[in-house]
Amino acid sequence: MQTLDILERLIAFPSVSRTPNRDLIAYTVQLLSDVGVTCELMESEDGTRANLFATIGPQDRPGVMLSGHTDVVPVEGQNWSSDPFILRRDAARYYGRGTADMKGFVACAIRAARLASQRDLKTPLHLAFSYDEEIGCIGVRSLLDALEPRSIKPSLCIVGEPTGMAIATGHKGKTALRATCTGHASHSALAPEGVNALHLAADFMTCLRARQADLAANGAQDDAYSVPYTTLHAGIMHGGVQLNIVPDNCTLDFEIRNIAADDPAVIVEGLRADAGKIVAPYRDSHPHVAIDFAETNTYPGLETPEDAAIVAFLRDVTGSNDPAIKVAFGTEGGLFHNRLGIATAVCGPGHMAQGHKPDEYIDAAQLDACDRMLDRVLDRLESGL
Ligand SMILES: [Zn+2]
Repeated sequence: MQTLDILERLIAFPSVSRTPNRDLIAYTVQLLSDVGVTCELMESEDGTRANLFATIGPQDRPGVMLSGHTDVVPVEGQNWSSDPFILRRDAARYYGRGTADMKGFVACAIRAARLASQRDLKTPLHLAFSYDEEIGCIGVRSLLDALEPRSIKPSLCIVGEPTGMAIATGHKGKTALRATCTGHASHSALAPEGVNALHLAADFMTCLRARQADLAANGAQDDAYSVPYTTLHAGIMHGGVQLNIVPDNCTLDFEIRNIAADDPAVIVEGLRADAGKIVAPYRDSHPHVAIDFAETNTYPGLETPEDAAIVAFLRDVTGSNDPAIKVAFGTEGGLFHNRLGIATAVCGPGHMAQGHKPDEYIDAAQLDACDRMLDRVLDRLESGL
């Protein structure tokens, strides 16, 4: 079965994050059970979504894991030229939601797994397909929980996010937080008697921006990234009910995307100190005034050394000797490395420049290159790695 046939079916499942992916998973299980491969599913709490883990070849030793997510970002508000959930071919390109990010790789991985089942592998191939990656690597956590206690875990991992088949050894970590600003309501005609929560949030945002400016000017730098320093950014602000009421509540959602040299916990502590200074003047008059933080999502960065076994392996199977790159977007790779100790790198077909956009596409040549890479992976696994 060819990658394109599989991709066409995968695209037709509208597996947007937070919505069911069970039909897609059932299709995948069918393709694998047809060739005698047993799949393990780790379901979401409500059972509408599942991760899939499978091992092809010997079960008693660590192998090479192909990691991909099955969810895609929404299409609402995007101006597509054709139905995003019907694969459309135009010249040497395939259009559809998820072609680049990242059902193209998932289709290649399923094809490779089916071929692997017919070969006499000395080292196993593993598949790890997740859900709800696009909303902060949420779904994969239950797969990590399942693998963590096992004595035999995969030893190498290829995360097939789109890198144009380049080898990527790093991405930034992400920590998302909500600052809840609690003020004191009053009639706006008596505004100085209240404590305006929007003003607290504005003061806090000023501190956030000052810390960003400081990190950009004086912080650690990693020139492998297009933005070579740790970034802070405010994304959502909610507050206020009516113009003639001094608002007593405002929330500000912000995030830190850190390079390996910076510890996000240290940055959060600094921001906590900033928040403390903002509310300090109200301590006596309005003791309930506060800026509280809650972490809403976090995943670690990936920082794989150039001399790691996965890099040498990928150089061999891709035939590339280009210097490894680092990517701007996050992946599940940092979790696989940090939680399970698996040597991990990112390498997959297509380009993230086309991801998340209307008329997302992947070039046929990229899918072919990925198939060739995975054919070579199977050769290596057959010879014992
Ligand atoms: Zn992705």
